[in-house]
Amino acid sequence: MDTHGINQFYKVLADTLPTRWTERGLREVAGLSAPSGILGKNEWLLKADYAITVGRWFLEGLVDLARHVESGNNIGHVYIEIFAQLRMLAQHAPEDEVELAATQLANFAWREVEARRGMGRERISAALKEAVWFNSAPDQRCYLCGYQFTQHARDLFLRRTRQEMTPLNLVDFTRPRGAKARHLRIELDHEIPVAEGGATDEDNLYLACGWCNLTKSKLWSVYDARAWAAGVFRHPDPKIGTVTLPQPLWILRLIAARGRCEATASCPARLNNSELFVAPFNTKGALTPTNLMVVCAEHDPWAASRFIAPSLLPNRK
Ligand SMILES: [Zn+2]
Ligand SMILES: [Zn+2]
Repeated sequence: MDTHGINQFYKVLADTLPTRWTERGLREVAGLSAPSGILGKNEWLLKADYAITVGRWFLEGLVDLARHVESGNNIGHVYIEIFAQLRMLAQHAPEDEVELAATQLANFAWREVEARRGMGRERISAALKEAVWFNSAPDQRCYLCGYQFTQHARDLFLRRTRQEMTPLNLVDFTRPRGAKARHLRIELDHEIPVAEGGATDEDNLYLACGWCNLTKSKLWSVYDARAWAAGVFRHPDPKIGTVTLPQPLWILRLIAARGRCEATASCPARLNNSELFVAPFNTKGALTPTNLMVVCAEHDPWAASRFIAPSLLPNRK
């Protein structure tokens, strides 16, 4: 780790505190590059989501897709707008390069325009639900967190019962699945969102628990969540004590994307055979995006104290 860089980095952050809402202060901050090592083991996720986020902003800043969704326009109209903007932004770039970039962007945008036009039209039939369920046999789990569905959830999903699930008495304080009945239900999630052109078919639908589906919602990346901290929780076990809880989206995104227990290199726990949890790398630190690690039940440092009464949790949705 680059300790000299860290020293400089935090000096600028401290010096610019009074000017953090001014262009002058922020330009100074922007001139910093993050010292090596500061993003920790989750650097890949933080960088990927940053790229996805700015990629979307740039594209939608070139062309407001909502306008094309409502009109009867075709991809040619989108291309023309994008090309004109790019031509202006990159005045010295060769013509063929601008054309190529505009084509790439127009194709990317068009998939989404088409998807948004068709949104809400497709209904998920009982037959499709059954197909997705039986395709994931015999060990049906949430594809995002590895939670194994109960028989009751199965019966409700396949409409063999109408009896609602019962909320749990104990929930994981980092991810309180079970605080509400819906969390325990089986839902179908589009792996590629409908808004990005994902189809409503067996290949793109996966079983997700209600908690993951609710948390994922329409969010794209870790930067779509509000501030990283969702609240402060006082654990009844004094060995754990006060814990700053991160946004649920953070937990979901890391577990789903990492997909395996990282406590040891040889642990075989994966989403398709185990439920996975988050714990801190550094137990003295808060559960920040750079301090979260994925563990299985067996390697869970919090195994003895993870499950608590939902009433102890700070306010949540
Ligand atoms: Zn889940
Ligand atoms: Zn493990």
